[in-house]
Amino acid sequence: MSRERIISNMQRGISPPLSPEVQQQLTQALEAFSLSQLERMNSAGVRFWPHPHSVPPEFRGIVEVDALSSPAAYLPPIRVIRFHLDSLTVNHLRHELAHAWDDVRNDPARDLRPLDSLPESQRRAAVGRLARQRSPFASQALRGRGRLSLRQMMERYRARLPRRELTFANPSTREGHELRGPYEFYAEGYSVFHGTCVMCQARLLRYASELYDYLEEESRTYHLATPNRTVLQSYPIR
Ligand SMILES: [Zn+2]
Repeated sequence: MSRERIISNMQRGISPPLSPEVQQQLTQALEAFSLSQLERMNSAGVRFWPHPHSVPPEFRGIVEVDALSSPAAYLPPIRVIRFHLDSLTVNHLRHELAHAWDDVRNDPARDLRPLDSLPESQRRAAVGRLARQRSPFASQALRGRGRLSLRQMMERYRARLPRRELTFANPSTREGHELRGPYEFYAEGYSVFHGTCVMCQARLLRYASELYDYLEEESRTYHLATPNRTVLQSYPIR
């Protein structure tokens, strides 16, 4: 399936359609993922939902949600990225997509299917099963080079960071978000690594070098663009 088809499929059920500006934001955020990653997310049913108070109709009565308190959030049991239309940024979207990727890469390909395509009883059972998963994200169990877990990488970063203001997180990210657990550490790292804030990338390399190595390796696996290490190493960190 083409990238364009996948992007439009991820907007199924949205009415009225998203404005060209928001569609452009989605397209830009999805540039951080290869076609094979997008295909995997698409076969798992990952989709966008621009309503902070609700979920797509297929999941009503199956999951209860609170109003969104952040610009965007990924909901693992239904694989939906909900967002506020008025405070959305590409960085937020990329971060939530990284959560979606981190979730679906964890499941064997044969288990992946769009939950909203299942008959209701099966959909209910599948959502219930996913909601009971204690560690839905691959980053909760993965180990990188040197066999460090993402949590250990995060603790090294916490110890290394001279001041909180030198966080590698994107400026629009809520303070301390990347330290809330290995999956937040991974998602924000992914968003920064594939984003446009060079200062953030330089800090990621300096203070969270193990995560940087991990993301660089992952990026090569999927043939994605990779920041220039030499440029980042000499970048003046403030
Ligand atoms: Zn997050």
